[in-house]
Amino acid sequence: MTKHSIMLLPGDGIGPEIMAEVRRVMAWVEGAHGVSFDVSDGLIGGCAYEEYGVPLTDETLTQAKASDAIVMGCVGGPQWDGKTDYDKRPEAGLLRLRKDLDLFANLRPAMCFDALADASSLKREYVAGLDILFVRELAGGVYFGEPRGIQELPGGGRVGINTQRYTDAEIVRIARVAFEMARKRGGRVHSAEKANVMEAGLLWREEVTKLHAEEYSDVTLEHILADNCAMQLVKAPKQFDVILTDNLFGDILSDAAAMLTGSLGMLPSASLGDGGPGLYEPVHGSAPDIAGLGVANPIAAVLSFAMALRYSLDMGDAADQIEACIAKVLEQGYRTADLMSEGMKQVGTIGMGDAILAALNS
Ligand code: NAD
Repeated sequence: MTKHSIMLLPGDGIGPEIMAEVRRVMAWVEGAHGVSFDVSDGLIGGCAYEEYGVPLTDETLTQAKASDAIVMGCVGGPQWDGKTDYDKRPEAGLLRLRKDLDLFANLRPAMCFDALADASSLKREYVAGLDILFVRELAGGVYFGEPRGIQELPGGGRVGINTQRYTDAEIVRIARVAFEMARKRGGRVHSAEKANVMEAGLLWREEVTKLHAEEYSDVTLEHILADNCAMQLVKAPKQFDVILTDNLFGDILSDAAAMLTGSLGMLPSASLGDGGPGLYEPVHGSAPDIAGLGVANPIAAVLSFAMALRYSLDMGDAADQIEACIAKVLEQGYRTADLMSEGMKQVGTIGMGDAILAALNS
């Protein structure tokens, strides 16, 4: 029997509640697909800080590195917001995990399930059937570039500095991911940057163009300025298949696209490196306002696990089944509170898990 090792990091807030539903889906996959998951549990974020004094221990990191895939819930909460020691904040655990695993490719699907098209801020015809994959560079760019900091100016006043910096190698490795993904999907890549006003954007455009010509001419490539991309996402989002972009623009554009799909509770993500385990996590945070109430939507977490099946465990069939069952459950009218609308059947976290399991077993 094929065995896969999976590290589960539920984290803070609603993390443990939504991950409980992921465990049930994992058990179904084991039974239905004849595989076995060797699951190890770890703490990350505020809960790890409370237990060990750090948001991610070396032991947890080592165990995560040794697994085939890492499935995380979410981190953070108001009880840790005032922490001035940056390394002790819940998010520092997540950033360390991403950095140590060299997870440079962030994949964020923005998919609109047909049953939820009316929950979008855009009209149904603009979003029904929407299926965009963002490929965002995650390990470089302005969030990491040096020099950075806040400095006193000699004549008085202060200056804040960040540096947008990309090497050709960094651009090529993320562009390669986007082209490979496009080959498995609609065969189209839009590469978004600001080549008109930024040298880092110009180099980005040149390197993407070169790689495309040398190795991926079967994929359609279009360059788009990041500001125009933002406008087009709101105007005609279905024109996109894969959007390739850097760390900063990817952060903003993928959040904007996320909102077209209705709810934060529906959005999964994957972060991949060169070999090694991928990290799979919902886009949403720890939702402290509803933590412990049993009302959180577990779908983003379950879809994140489906991405782990597809990208780290080579079990695309099982991922397809899970995604189809979630679409079915939504068609049947099941809704957690964040998705609720008139005439639908409201369920809690466990109730949504029950409905997904029922669909998987039918
Ligand atoms: P959030 O995503 O936690 O919540 C925003 C709103 O969406 C809230 O009203 C929340 O109840 C709702 N929501 C989120 N996920 C939901 C779900 N699965 N089901 C139903 N409703 C859901 O964002 P926030 O309130 O800005 O941040 C809360 C905490 O989470 C902060 O400490 C923040 O730093 C942290 N955070 C963590 C991550 C992460 O772990 N990757 C990401 C973003 C924010």
